[in-house]
Amino acid sequence: MKLALEAPALNTLAVNGREERFPVNRVYCVGRNYAAHAREMGKDPDREPPFFFMKPASAVVDAASPVGIPYPPHTKNYHHEIELVVAIKKGGRDIPADRALEHVYGYAVGLDMTRRDLQLEARDKGRPWEFGKSFAQSAPIGPLFRAEDIGHPGAAAIRLTVNGEPRQASDIGKLIWSVAESISVLSAFDELQPGDLLMTGTPEGVNAVVAGDVMRGAIDGLGEIEVRVTGQ
Ligand code: MN
Repeated sequence: MKLALEAPALNTLAVNGREERFPVNRVYCVGRNYAAHAREMGKDPDREPPFFFMKPASAVVDAASPVGIPYPPHTKNYHHEIELVVAIKKGGRDIPADRALEHVYGYAVGLDMTRRDLQLEARDKGRPWEFGKSFAQSAPIGPLFRAEDIGHPGAAAIRLTVNGEPRQASDIGKLIWSVAESISVLSAFDELQPGDLLMTGTPEGVNAVVAGDVMRGAIDGLGEIEVRVTGQ
């Protein structure tokens, strides 16, 4: 096949302890999936159905080793959101929750970096969140740990420090919608495909970073990522 332009590079993630890399297809994100974070965003954490937004695959940054990401344009309130990331190996639609984990390749630590001022302005005007969430290098993600190696973590401490100061600390067992439930609901709206990622939502403690800040995020059993915010 002859292409009219050079094809954009495939975005991939490291796989812990292995040479092969995981090809990233689409990036789905769950909104408000920890009650304490829903409250800090001014919302009632009753168990409404989960809702989703997306980032482009090109937002993904390989954070298997310490990495820098640029402070993005058009924001004065650039926030960290530490999250459990789920990688899909087998596609499907209308996946029942009790079969959902069979579709999971593995898990990683990731950051859903957010231009909070743009997101909230869009939210309050009833506009799409896109420019608050979907932009270049807004999803640094650590190496994937394969489910066949580590199983499916149901509870594990999740935390983020900025310049060594604690910012976010919770447990992935506090997800309002579990990984299996989120996959099940999502697959009813859109057929999942191999290579899709699901960012499962952030716990409370989201806050701003500025150029020069160093974020360290971790989930027990999934290692730690180190992400520095660089100048524009
Ligand atoms: Mn998020």
